[in-house]
Amino acid sequence: MKAALFDTIGKPLVIGDVEDPKPQRGQILLKVCRCGICGSDLHMTAEEVFGVRKGDVLGHEFSGEILEIGGDGGGLKVGDQVSVAPIRGCGSCASCLRGEPAWCEKMTLIGGGYAQYAAVEAHQCRRLPWGISAADGALAEPLAVGLHGLTQSGMKPGDTVLVVGAGAIGLAVAFWARRQGARKVVLADLTDLQAERAMNLGATGFVISDEEVASKVATAFDGAPDIVFECVGRPGMIDHCISLVRPRGKVVVLGLCTAPDHMDSFRAISKEVTIIMSVFFNMHEFANSIDALDSGRFAPQNLISDRVGLKDMPEAFEALRKRTTQCKVLVDPFAE
Ligand SMILES: [Zn+2]
Ligand SMILES: [Zn+2]
Repeated sequence: MKAALFDTIGKPLVIGDVEDPKPQRGQILLKVCRCGICGSDLHMTAEEVFGVRKGDVLGHEFSGEILEIGGDGGGLKVGDQVSVAPIRGCGSCASCLRGEPAWCEKMTLIGGGYAQYAAVEAHQCRRLPWGISAADGALAEPLAVGLHGLTQSGMKPGDTVLVVGAGAIGLAVAFWARRQGARKVVLADLTDLQAERAMNLGATGFVISDEEVASKVATAFDGAPDIVFECVGRPGMIDHCISLVRPRGKVVVLGLCTAPDHMDSFRAISKEVTIIMSVFFNMHEFANSIDALDSGRFAPQNLISDRVGLKDMPEAFEALRKRTTQCKVLVDPFAE
């Protein structure tokens, strides 16, 4: 099969031929329909800390059709279309049975989606209901990450929400916040490249982050927001969010910052800010995200900006390192 292979740090991915995966017992073989390009993949191919090796196939936001089942398949059958949760637990411990493989002692994060076929554990898969296409199913993972952040925040209907960072995760948080009854949902970003997409996903406002951002936020909220979501992941961003939230408000951190960060704890304690960390998602949130793909007006499909075949994928991958109007790029391994 064809796959996009990691070469070295700082070099584009290379399209190559590799052996087709063989499903072990308990696994299923998928024909990959779509795989989303994630910010974390860009990180993993740019920084040594992640230990990606030459020849590895990344890609963890994927969906596809079942071609073969090793064992009983846990209720899945050949021909089913599924989304794959990239968090692989043992499938049988208390965490896994609660639907929280992220907290399984044997948890691993899988890739393999930037290829034509992938073998995954049956318990990582959720069947797509009638009316939801496999092409959209690749959005379940980033949507679930956003939903987990919203759940962690304890947001109540009527709350006001600021989302800092209008990447796919920030936009997913805005989508859920509006859907779950936030009174105002405003995004802040360095550019307005995603402003229209934000409105199509349910945001009520969009501000540019510059020296005047504090006063723009004050105007947008007629005060300060109840909850600020950090969806950037750079040093200093948590501190920035603390400065923007209302006294006794909450800052929820989804941004993945791999460098040591600092914050003005005096400012945080003076406002009695609650800081909440959010990573991964559980399988209930994953299932909810699949169901949300059905929604009409603020369709999560608005996250999709491009579809590329494997041939053009390394170039598309590199292009995402720069500021762009692109958002979620989906790889279709069978497209020309
Ligand atoms: Zn991802
Ligand atoms: Zn487990």
